[in-house]
Amino acid sequence: MSNLNELNLSDEAVDVDVDNMPEQFGGGGFIDPQPGDYVFSMPKDVTFKPMLIGNAERINAEFIGGNGFKMESGERFTTRLSNMSRGRKDGPKGAALAYLLQAVGFSGRLVTNLDYGHGVEWAIEKQKSFKAYVEWRFYCNPNKPRRIAAEVDGRTKLIEDPAGTKGCGRSFGETAYVKGNGDKVNAIPTNGSGELTQSFKCVCGGAIRIFPELINFRSVG
Ligand SMILES: [Zn+2]
Repeated sequence: MSNLNELNLSDEAVDVDVDNMPEQFGGGGFIDPQPGDYVFSMPKDVTFKPMLIGNAERINAEFIGGNGFKMESGERFTTRLSNMSRGRKDGPKGAALAYLLQAVGFSGRLVTNLDYGHGVEWAIEKQKSFKAYVEWRFYCNPNKPRRIAAEVDGRTKLIEDPAGTKGCGRSFGETAYVKGNGDKVNAIPTNGSGELTQSFKCVCGGAIRIFPELINFRSVG
């Protein structure tokens, strides 16, 4: 037992409204996990956002901040997963949310957007876990203005290049390699400890911030 009761503290109210505090800033910030397999657990809640792919409606499940997937380290992994289909043009299609729901053992119907939403709600209610690979890559998009580092309100932020200069089309991955079509992929630079760095400059001068993504969802155990 501490000496708290010996201090004869006054019972004056402290002028902090704990339900309405300003956001905290500063500190090094959470650096996302290095590439590899990790186990994740479902958060307590999620936000869904509808999105249009052409004329088709799909949903994005936003696992962000306190609703990020819980890692074994206790950190949260922020990501968005959708039921937008992916796959070869004429081949069968998959979707990140479908892979996730299979990995957590959801056996309900997955046809409509609502089905996907209910599947995610089920996984949250059951506090399911899954394994996935954290992938680091970046594409310096030649169709979009690049980003540059700029001082905004005394803090360094990445903003859209005011000059409108577009990206250079270079790709970055966990290691350097040459794709089947001959395109070269550059290695993401590493720090002194051999870890991939999350923020660096592209050869074209554009500022890059990697947001790792989850791929290869599997069941735990
Ligand atoms: Zn570039």
